Amino acid sequence: MTIEVQHIRKQFGQFTALDDVSLQFPNGELTALLGPSGCGKTTLLRIIAGLEHPDSGAVLLDGQDASSSHVRERQVGFVFQHYALFKHMTVFENVAFGLRVRPRKERPSEQQIRDKVKQLLELVQLDWIADRYPPQLSGGQRQRIALARALAVEPRVLLLDEPFGALDAKVRKELRRWLRRLHDDLHVTSIFVTHDQEEALEVADQVVVMNKGRVEQLGTPESVYNAPASPFVYSFLGNVNLFHGRVHDGVLASGDALFDAPGHVAVQNADGIGYVRPHDLEVERYVAGQPGIAVKLRRAHAIGPLAQLDLERLDTAQLIEAVIPNERFAGLGLKEGETLLVRPRQIQVFVDEGGGI
Ligand code: ATP
Repeated sequence: MTIEVQHIRKQFGQFTALDDVSLQFPNGELTALLGPSGCGKTTLLRIIAGLEHPDSGAVLLDGQDASSSHVRERQVGFVFQHYALFKHMTVFENVAFGLRVRPRKERPSEQQIRDKVKQLLELVQLDWIADRYPPQLSGGQRQRIALARALAVEPRVLLLDEPFGALDAKVRKELRRWLRRLHDDLHVTSIFVTHDQEEALEVADQVVVMNKGRVEQLGTPESVYNAPASPFVYSFLGNVNLFHGRVHDGVLASGDALFDAPGHVAVQNADGIGYVRPHDLEVERYVAGQPGIAVKLRRAHAIGPLAQLDLERLDTAQLIEAVIPNERFAGLGLKEGETLLVRPRQIQVFVDEGGGI
């Protein structure tokens, strides 16, 4: 099912939780709603589900206006951060619940329910704990059961609100890979709320980056990471070095360094900031007269395949970070306190057009 939201606004008293949000969620894709706490992700999810009503705007399901349809008619499955399994029911009965409470004429037979639950428990790889009760499960197992329960009623849309938020980092990582595989098997249109950028980039087909009730960017994980549309998206999606300076005729001057800013050739003398990811900085030994920014190596963490270098610019004393393959770091034979040259392989310059950057 395709989902579309058009010009959604939602106020809570004076506070604007959603401010003119328009988005499309393609059929069969997994979309991550990503943004900091309080940016409106959950509110948007609840509006799509029909649990909350927007002040204005529309929700279209398969092109039909569903704004006034009831939660049940929308056929959505939910999984929340705090798994709401029934403690007094076995895993089996928890998964069967949605089928048992269907109106009599739609209710499957006992045998059909048994077959369906068995199939779902196999799908989430937990058929071996069908007779246990929720308190006897780990957090990760509970979330998988919550997902099996949501899938039991064959929802047309699956909405997941920080489903792994309460779990520790290792289990989270395992479950997100598992969710991706499950999604590849089932192809249910799914929306996944998270404030964890790594999770969104790893799991989703498309990512919606939200900030203060508005959509900052919509795109594939690659496009939002590699071509952020705004400084907010740049900073939110990973570590970044900021080179402050002035932009003039397509060049950013920052301290003694000059960077190309090809998108800004018409700009005459405005404040600008160059954004460079740590792994987009090339690092070399210092050679006088070579282009690049002269920096002092403050500290190196060379553990695992990558070396993280804390650097200080000689011209402005600004601290910057570079990440290079550990092999290259070892090959350069660098020592703390040494002077190096760094050069951005890729830089994106944002210019202050009056509203601040
Ligand atoms: P989090 O990651 O912390 O869950 P979120 O991005 O999902 O955040 P929402 O839960 O959508 O954010 O909330 C958006 C804003 O609206 C928050 O500032 C929140 O306090 C406010 N808000 C949400 N629901 C209500 C409500 N029922 N009454 C008043 N304010 C609300």
